[in-house]
Amino acid sequence: MSVVDRQEWDVVVVGAGGAGLRAAIEARERGARTAVICKSLFGKAHTVMAEGGIAAAMGNVNAGDNWQVHFRDTMRGGKFLNQWRMAELHAREAPARVWELETWGALFDRTRDGRISQRNFGGHEYPRLAHVGDRTGLELIRTLQQKVVALQQEDFKETGDYESRLKVFQECTVTRVLKDGERVSGVFGYERESGRFFVLEAPAVVIATGGIGKSFKVTSNSWEYTGDGHALALLAGAPLLNMEFVQFHPTGMVWPPSVKGILVTESVRGDGGVLRNSEGKRFMFDYVPDVFKEKYAESEEEADRWYDDPDHNRRPPELLPRDEVARAINAEVKAGRGSPHGGVFLDVSTRMPADVIKRRLPSMYHQFKELADVDITAEPMEVGPTCHYVMGGIAVDSDSAAARGVPGLFAAGEVAGGMHGSNRLGGNSLSDLLVFGRRAGWHAAEYAGERASARPRVDDTQIDAAAAEALRPFSAEGEEPADGPPENPYTLHQELQQTMNDLVGIIRREHEMRQALEKLAELRVRARRAGVEGHRQFNPGWHLALDLRNMLLVSECVARAALERTESRGGHTREDYPAMDRTWRNVNLLCRLADPSGGFAAGDPVRGQISLTRETTEPIRPDLLALFEKEELVKYLAEEELYE
Ligand code: FAD
Repeated sequence: MSVVDRQEWDVVVVGAGGAGLRAAIEARERGARTAVICKSLFGKAHTVMAEGGIAAAMGNVNAGDNWQVHFRDTMRGGKFLNQWRMAELHAREAPARVWELETWGALFDRTRDGRISQRNFGGHEYPRLAHVGDRTGLELIRTLQQKVVALQQEDFKETGDYESRLKVFQECTVTRVLKDGERVSGVFGYERESGRFFVLEAPAVVIATGGIGKSFKVTSNSWEYTGDGHALALLAGAPLLNMEFVQFHPTGMVWPPSVKGILVTESVRGDGGVLRNSEGKRFMFDYVPDVFKEKYAESEEEADRWYDDPDHNRRPPELLPRDEVARAINAEVKAGRGSPHGGVFLDVSTRMPADVIKRRLPSMYHQFKELADVDITAEPMEVGPTCHYVMGGIAVDSDSAAARGVPGLFAAGEVAGGMHGSNRLGGNSLSDLLVFGRRAGWHAAEYAGERASARPRVDDTQIDAAAAEALRPFSAEGEEPADGPPENPYTLHQELQQTMNDLVGIIRREHEMRQALEKLAELRVRARRAGVEGHRQFNPGWHLALDLRNMLLVSECVARAALERTESRGGHTREDYPAMDRTWRNVNLLCRLADPSGGFAAGDPVRGQISLTRETTEPIRPDLLALFEKEELVKYLAEEELYE
C-alpha cells in the first residue's frame, strides 16, 4: 500500500472555484478545520474564466428590481423545473453575497453615482449583473483567495501555523469519497506532480468540482471539467438529478478550429450586440417562442429603443434565454444561412464606438484579435453554440446543500443539481456559487462539529481498493491475453467527445441516443484496458485514463436521462418531441449507480452502469406561485398543479 500521507480534518472541500472557496471560508469561520483540494493550480478554476457578471437583484440601475423579480426570471429561464426553494434562497441571498464580496475587497464597475454597476443579460428583466468589465470571475476568485489568505494570517497569529485551520492542497485530484458504513469518512486522491496517494479523513466532505464539458467535443470548458464530482457522488451512493439538461451557450468561437468552442460572453449582446445571418438579417425576431412573446420586441426599432428606455419598450430577442438563442442559431445554419465557418455573425462594430467596445469588452477584443485575427471594433464575429454548463447535478437538500442519501456529503456550485431547472440564466452561476457555497460550508461545519467526539473510521480495505483502481492503467497490458493491446486514453477521450457531440448534443433524436449508449458501452469495455506508459510523476496520460471513468459515467447519465425525457425543455431539445409537455413539468429524473458495491466490484462493463428512476417534484409553495400571473402558469403547470 503506497499511501504516503494521511491527515485528519473536520471538513474537506473538493474544488477551489467560487463554490469551493466560499464553502471553505464559511466552514473555517464557523470553527471547522478545513482542507481545500484542487486539481489545478490554486486560482485556476472555471470561476476565473467567468466574464459577464454576477446576477443579484440589488436594484442599482433599475429600482424596479427585487428578489421576487429575480426569482420569477430564474423559474422562467429554467422552465419551472427548478428546485423552487433553491431559486428562492438564491434570489433572496445573492445581493448580500455580492455586498459581502465588496467588503472583502472586490472592486466592481460603478454607476455614475458610485454604486455597483449592473448590466443586462439574457432572461433577466432588469440590468442585474454586477461586473468587472468582462473579467468578473477573475475578481471573484482574487477576492476569495485574498480572504483565504487573510484567515490564514489570523490563524498564524494565534497558532504560529498559517495552515493550522485552513489549508489548500493544489494540483491534487480526488478519485474516491471514502465511507464508514453509510456515512462519509474522507477522500482518497493523488498528487499530480509526484503521483503519490493521500487520504484526508473527515466527517464532512463538500463536493464543488464544477462541470462536465470535457465530455463534449465543442466546449467552452477547460481540461479539468471531466465530471469528477458528479462521478464521486454517484460512486459514493448519491443520486444525480436531471442530467439531460446540458446548456449549449449560443455564442462560442467557430474559427479557427484550434479555438472552436471558446466562449464569447453574453455581455456582447447585453451591451447591444446583434446576431445576423449570411443575408444580413437580424433573425432572432423569427424565433421568439409563444411563452415569451409578450416580453420581447417585435421590430428592430423597438428593440433598439429598449437600451435607452427599458420601461417603455420590450427587450431585443437576442436577449432571450440561452437555449432559445442556441436553437435559433442552429436552425439558421441548418437552413444554409450561416457564416463561412458554420456559425452566424455577432456584430458590435456597427453598434458602439470602438473605444466603448474596448472599455466594456476588453477580453473579447483581445480574444478575437489574438486568436482569430479579427478586430471586433471593425467587423463582426463568427459564433455558434458550444457546450457550456450542466444544469443537472448532485441531488441536494435546498437549504443545507446536503447530498441526498449520503450523510456527511455536501455539494455546491455547478456540480449540484436543481437550482437552474432545465436552463440556467447567465450570471446566475456566480451568484449560485456564493449563496450555496456558503450554505454548504456552514452545514458541513455544523455536521462535523456534531460528530467531533465520534469521528467516522477510515477503512483500510477501501484505501487499498482505491489505490488499486488508480494504478490499474499501469498494468492494463496483458491482463487478459484475449483482450488485445492496451487502449490509448486520448483516443478513447476523442471518441467519447465525438459521440456526445454528435449523438447527444444540442438537438437530440431517439435512434441517435440509443446509438450513443451502445458506443458508450463499447468505450467502457475498452476503457478497462486504458493503458499508460512511464511512471507516476506528472503523467497526463495516466490522469486522463482516470478521468475517463468519470466522463463515461456522467455521459451515460446524460444519454439515459435524455432518452427518457420525451419532451423539449430548456437545455434538452428532442427533434422527435419538439414541444414542452406540461405533464413532464413535475418530473425529476434521478440517476444512481446500479452496482451497490460503489463500482469497486469489476462487474460487466457492457451492461449499463446507471439505473434511472422518476420522481415527482415537490409542489411549488403557493406564495411563490402567486408571484406569477395565472395566464403564464397555464403555459407551464400541469392541470392538477393548477387546480391545487
Ligand atoms: P469551478 O470554478 O469550475 O471549480 C472547480 C474546482 O474543482 C477547480 O478548482 C478544479 O480544479 C476542482 N476539481 C475538479 N475535479 C477535481 C478533483 N477530482 N479533485 C480535486 N479537485 C477537482 N457564470 C456566471 O454566472 N457568469 C458569467 O459571466 C460566466 N461566464 C463564464 C465564462 C466561461 C468561459 C465559462 C467556462 C463559464 C462561465 N460561467 C459564468 C459559468 C461559471 O463560471 C461556472 O459555472 C462556475 O464558475 C463554476 O464554479 P464552481 O465553483 O462550481 O466550479
